[in-house]
Amino acid sequence: MYERFGLWIQGAWRPARDGRSQVVLDPADETVLGEVPCASAEDLDDALAAAAQTARSWRVTPAWERSAILRRTAVELRARVDEAAEFMSRETGKPIAEARGEMNAAVEQFDWHADEARRVFGHTLDGRDPNTRLNVRYDPVGPVAAFTAWNFPALLPARKIAAALAAGCTIILKPSEETPSSAYFIAEAAHAAGLPAGVLNVVTGDPAGIAQHLIGSPIIRKVSLTGSARVGKTLMRMSAEGMKKITMELGGHAPVLVFADADPIAAGEACARAKFRNAGQVCISPSRFYVHRSIYEAFAAAMVQAAQALRIGRGLDTGVEFGPMVNARGRDRAAALVEDACARGAHLLTGGKAPAGFARGFFYEPTILGSVPDSARIMHEEPFGPVAPLTAFSDFDEVIARANSVPFGLAGYLFSRSLETAIRASEALEVGMVGVNDLLIAAAEIPFGGIKDSGTGREGGRLGIFDYLAPKYVKLRIA
Ligand code: NAD
Repeated sequence: MYERFGLWIQGAWRPARDGRSQVVLDPADETVLGEVPCASAEDLDDALAAAAQTARSWRVTPAWERSAILRRTAVELRARVDEAAEFMSRETGKPIAEARGEMNAAVEQFDWHADEARRVFGHTLDGRDPNTRLNVRYDPVGPVAAFTAWNFPALLPARKIAAALAAGCTIILKPSEETPSSAYFIAEAAHAAGLPAGVLNVVTGDPAGIAQHLIGSPIIRKVSLTGSARVGKTLMRMSAEGMKKITMELGGHAPVLVFADADPIAAGEACARAKFRNAGQVCISPSRFYVHRSIYEAFAAAMVQAAQALRIGRGLDTGVEFGPMVNARGRDRAAALVEDACARGAHLLTGGKAPAGFARGFFYEPTILGSVPDSARIMHEEPFGPVAPLTAFSDFDEVIARANSVPFGLAGYLFSRSLETAIRASEALEVGMVGVNDLLIAAAEIPFGGIKDSGTGREGGRLGIFDYLAPKYVKLRIA
């Protein structure tokens, strides 16, 4: 499946120098999709040399020219959406419609950052001495090492690549080995759009070894990860050695507060659709459901009905809405969380096992647990799978305290018809992003990111490009 790809270094595809490779599995039936190279230390040195050599010319390439290349990359990538989405669906198991939607969102990142490239404004102040002027400008921070998770294999790399290129940085990306193809299509599109060779490089292989090699190199000035809090903390510690700028987009465990004045049926149906998208493997997935006691039963019934109606199958099959999980590890974690919650008194309302007729592949049914105690592991560990825990609440302050009780702070959601409740709750939630009566919050034009263990820095919106820039102050004595 990957014959035309490989390591993308200095504008060319090639195998690893020592010929090593690793397999990529189809999560729907556990067969081998293909092999991708394992970059050796020499390959990584070549990528570093390419990123260093081109950093000098790319940073002084006029913003209008960088913008035009990003715009053409969006056009080239759009032309590849169907083929790339098919590869993505095979690797991740996600329904083909979701894969196409994600590819289009990746295209939008290039489109958005084509504009942002031309809108990096510095500022000037008059000095205290009338003979001086104080200028503040923004420089690209330098070569970037970026690492991305498998759950959104096109969007996550696109957020980093588009912002880095817009800011004038060169970049080496290591996509997830489970889902490498989307990054290959992005590299192909950028090359066709006229991006100079060596500005973008894509490597695959042993994650820990690659991170150590790249982050340990003085060439790399910025580290950007989308992944788990565990790996985020490891990469932050490594980055601290060289005082490298960081962006960390890490795990989440988003609370959903359904207040007494919300429509329990509409909220329950919307929550089922959002929760089970990508089999629950979404960092901003609504994942802890606190429902007011007075509407709890109606909400739970609506959510269960919507979950049971989802069509399960291979991502590429027509009409499928819910595919397998990406690997056995994720499926087994979901099962363990369900077992733990039930042992502590939760009720299984639907799901809780592999669906009938799927003996192979990493399938796990859309699962809803009722009356889940706060002590259950699923109330404080990121489930990252198709398991929704429900619990009732009575009081505003109580539910805010319970919602804020986890180390994560990525997204939070609430349903209410009261303006006062909506404003007070969205201000009180300790998260980076809030959806009020809306669970679809991600877009190219908003600053995506979290607080607490969910990370630091923002991607997209007006703020994202600044994660790839360093302010420089210049004092001018003019007389
Ligand atoms: P992960 O942390 O295991 O992997 C992320 C990346 O880090 C991959 O490229 C992986 O190969 C690499 N990696 C893994 N182990 C490493 C190590 N020891 N040293 C260096 N690099 C290493 O995460 P995952 O399982 O691929 O993805 C799921 C996690 O990502 C979840 O926690 C999810 O919430 C999070 N996520 C966050 C966002 C966000 O924007 N905040 C978006 C998507 C996913």
